[in-house]
Amino acid sequence: MPIAENQVVSFHYRLNEGGRQVESSFDRNEPLHVLIGHGNIIPGLEQALVGREVGDRFSVSVPPELGYGPRQEGMVVRVPKKYFSHVPRLEAGMLVPLALKGGGQEWVTVVKVGMTAVDVDRNPPMAGKILDFEVEILAAREASSEEMAHRHAHGADGTHAHG
Ligand SMILES: [Zn+2]
Repeated sequence: MPIAENQVVSFHYRLNEGGRQVESSFDRNEPLHVLIGHGNIIPGLEQALVGREVGDRFSVSVPPELGYGPRQEGMVVRVPKKYFSHVPRLEAGMLVPLALKGGGQEWVTVVKVGMTAVDVDRNPPMAGKILDFEVEILAAREASSEEMAHRHAHGADGTHAHG
């Protein structure tokens, strides 16, 4: 049965960018479980899964417009260094959490560390990048009615509730 919208697909993936591994679910016990057709993963990867079969292994190169979008100018902001007092050794290139005024946090990339301020880039780390995925599809099933209502997958068998 080819993979289609409203199915939950379980798959392992390895993400490489610029010839370097960014992350890999193969190294963890748990694959990713994704409800297809509801924008839960980047469009390029979702499109590549549709029509495949369980057991398929494939590679796909996802351009920025089907990934995390283009890099935007004007996203580098200067933040007082004290905001990062929880980060032990602050260095350019690090991905660090920045607390937002309205609550919550955002992951930003450190551009430059000064004496009292830090320049950070608020672009998503993978914005503007071509993402090379290696994928192995492990399982696929119809989504439960609860998953359809929530518009996301509830684990391998659909029973993993969440808070
Ligand atoms: Zn849910």
